[in-house]
Amino acid sequence: MMGQFDKNALPVAIIGGGPVGLAAAAHLIKKGEKFIVLEAGESVGSSILEWGHVQMFSPWQYNIDQAAKELLENAGWTSPDEEALPTGRELVEKYLLPLSNLPEIKEQIMLQAKVVGVAKKAHDKLKTGKRDTVPIEAKAVIDSSGTWTNPNPILSNGIWTNAERQLHNEIHYGIPNVVQLENRYQNKTTLVIGSGHSAINALLGLATLQQKYSDTKIYWVLRKKQIHEVYGGQENDGLAARGELGIRIQQLVESGRINILTPFHINGVYPTNDKITVVGELSGEEFTIGDIDEMVVSTGFRPDTSFLNEVRINLDSTVESIDTLAPLIDPNIHSCGTVRPHGEQELRHPEKNFYIVGMKSYGRAPTFLLATGYEQVRSVVAYLTGDVEGAKEVHLELPETGVCSVNLASNSCDSDIPATETNDRSCCGSPVLTRLEMKNNSCCE
Ligand SMILES: Cc1cc2nc3c(=O)[nH]c(=O)nc-3n(C[C@H](O)[C@H](O)[C@H](O)COP(=O)(O)OP(=O)(O)OC[C@H]3O[C@@H](n4cnc5c(N)ncnc54)[C@H](O)[C@@H]3O)c2cc1C
Repeated sequence: MMGQFDKNALPVAIIGGGPVGLAAAAHLIKKGEKFIVLEAGESVGSSILEWGHVQMFSPWQYNIDQAAKELLENAGWTSPDEEALPTGRELVEKYLLPLSNLPEIKEQIMLQAKVVGVAKKAHDKLKTGKRDTVPIEAKAVIDSSGTWTNPNPILSNGIWTNAERQLHNEIHYGIPNVVQLENRYQNKTTLVIGSGHSAINALLGLATLQQKYSDTKIYWVLRKKQIHEVYGGQENDGLAARGELGIRIQQLVESGRINILTPFHINGVYPTNDKITVVGELSGEEFTIGDIDEMVVSTGFRPDTSFLNEVRINLDSTVESIDTLAPLIDPNIHSCGTVRPHGEQELRHPEKNFYIVGMKSYGRAPTFLLATGYEQVRSVVAYLTGDVEGAKEVHLELPETGVCSVNLASNSCDSDIPATETNDRSCCGSPVLTRLEMKNNSCCE
């Protein structure tokens, strides 16, 4: 695919034309560096379009990369209202599409180009030789392919079963557009699994449908010890729209209109007479839920590393993020959902000039934000283009969830926002610690 390039001017290959991949392209343009974007879908932002109906909780000011903004503004584009909250579709239509249509970028994007393998030319993984100096067809590879295309399965043990695969017509992974799929969900019994923002969005959509179609029944299955753990920082959240999600779900829970089963661990899911049966343990006791028509699985995503088998990468055994980032984002132990600013140095793998950035850099951790990815690619591109000092100067300032400072005793470890370096009130922005140190120091313990 890349044979077309002159060996003397190899491009940087960017895998994935989502917001972080396109931001990498913008930074490379700024540095006068050749690149190519390989996007599996029919459009840039194709994963985001799958949740295009969902309103983002961060306003435009956090969703636009600075280098991309400069390129767009030079071409006469006007930035949307900084305080407004785009939907996923608006993010694509008002930002990613105009960006991808800039002449400097358009020619370098290949759509429907799914990457199925990354390797060193003439060197499989085992062959050491001079791996770092063997000519490859791209100068560097930036994998920004996200995780959206690789959802977690239903079972609590994380294993895909044939029974679950058989039910693919009755299961939606992610957040269904209930308005568009009214016929599918009206007056049906739907079981929603998960405790993050995706599950909350799905529940709020179904609850709206329930007001119109009163026989619509909703189950919510999650693993939290107590339901209030999902409410988040609410009014104290630095992002009002994210706080609002917590307020609205609390109101829905208190209205008694949904059946909540928590802590629930799912051990099996089976088709039974045109319905679905779920078996598991509720608070440690065996429990079966029958007569389910539809399921919405919002249990997160995992990185697809199948096409990286021939490159040398270091992934954490638990989180599947790059191992240096794992202690900062491991939801089992990390405090406040925070991550300190990080860049090229932390994102390095044993394979030279190979980086995983964006959502995928967080592996299975659910806490990634766009602004983090934009700073990652700024730093990586600075390094790749010889600006070592610029690569080291990483900055990240984001609003906090408001969870840590108000509710230290509760489970505040599922929040999303990286903190500023200056925040010492909520133990955010702490230096990189080992897992053991994190456990001993965590403000969530
Ligand atoms: C519902 C929802 C709401 C969110 N709201 C916010 C928010 O308000 N604020 C915020 O900061 N973050 C938010 N996020 C988190 C995150 O910022 C987004 O998931 C964002 O899309 C991640 O960008 P990305 O470029 O890393 O990956 P993606 O947007 O997933 O882009 C990856 C691209 O790679 C392509 N691809 C995949 N595999 C291959 C392959 N093998 N070869 C070639 N191409 C491939 C995909 O088609 C896709 O276009 C939200 C996420 C979700 C799911």
